[in-house]
Amino acid sequence: MSTTVPLIVRLLASSVSVAGRAGKIVRDVMSKGELGIVEKGKDDYQTEADRSAQRCIIASLSAQYPKVNIIGEEDSPEDEGEVSSEWLVVDADKEILSIECPSFLQNVKEEDIVIWVDPLDGTSEYTQGFLEHVTVLIGISVNEKPVAGVIHQPYFKTLVDGEKKIGRTIWGLQEVGVGGYTPAPPPDSLVITTTRSHSNPIVEKALQVMNATQILRVGGAGYKVLQLLEGVASIYVFASPGCKKWDTCAPEAVLNAAGGKLTDILGNYYKYGASETRPNKTGVLAAVNNDLHTYALNKIPQELKEKLANK
Ligand code: AMP
Ligand code: MG
Ligand code: MG
Repeated sequence: MSTTVPLIVRLLASSVSVAGRAGKIVRDVMSKGELGIVEKGKDDYQTEADRSAQRCIIASLSAQYPKVNIIGEEDSPEDEGEVSSEWLVVDADKEILSIECPSFLQNVKEEDIVIWVDPLDGTSEYTQGFLEHVTVLIGISVNEKPVAGVIHQPYFKTLVDGEKKIGRTIWGLQEVGVGGYTPAPPPDSLVITTTRSHSNPIVEKALQVMNATQILRVGGAGYKVLQLLEGVASIYVFASPGCKKWDTCAPEAVLNAAGGKLTDILGNYYKYGASETRPNKTGVLAAVNNDLHTYALNKIPQELKEKLANK
């Protein structure tokens, strides 16, 4: 049956399943308490959870889709070793498999796809115990554009039929829509979301000019976009080159599918081809709709835009 389902839909269904498994790895590493923190650069950390979750995701997807180019945040020599069978996920989410594929994606081939994986977005928050900020991100791009994405929250708690359940998975597919959460309209007043752990004077300047009634400071690109999707915030502003393609690919795809928009702070879309530079050099500006995106874009001073563009 599965061979009659278009590749993009199968890939999204597989990504939903493997993101849940990766989320369990993230929880297991934390409960064991041996985080194995490595400093990759200034304010940039990796833990055993980042490494293991990435191995699980890449091994599982590349075994099933060998010609898809999968780029993960973490590069570690361990990636070459055998991955234990417990971490090899071959399931695909049944609900997603039944989605009707948009016609423009029906004939996509493995060679046209680049997947950007952030196995644990919000590592600083993870190490500091802000666990609800943590997400697992799998972004699927076709011909450089983010068309589908998965945002998994390993620590999201719900009650299902009176039973406690941990973890939830949000997905989006262009021209189809979103699932895994209840969409909500933006707040009545202007609420901005931004970084909690990577601010600097330029980041703050871009926030000051917005005339927001409230600024929320939380970890992770995934979590901030979730705040937009769930009506907690209206705009995500980050005037810094700190985010990378794996941070924005999945959130951008899900936000697009929900009617929102994510660009750099000059208003240009990022491209997600395999040869693109990893850093999102000119920052992130995302909003729940076009009007709020335009509002924010017009507020950012030209001088600040130029500063980032010429960095
Ligand atoms: P934040 O909003 O600070 O949680 O950042 C969102 C994503 O971008 C996370 O994966 C961060 O690790 C990454 N990031 C943002 N700024 C920086 C930075 N200055 N150095 C390293 N990573 C960063
Ligand atoms: Mg990240
Ligand atoms: Mg990460």
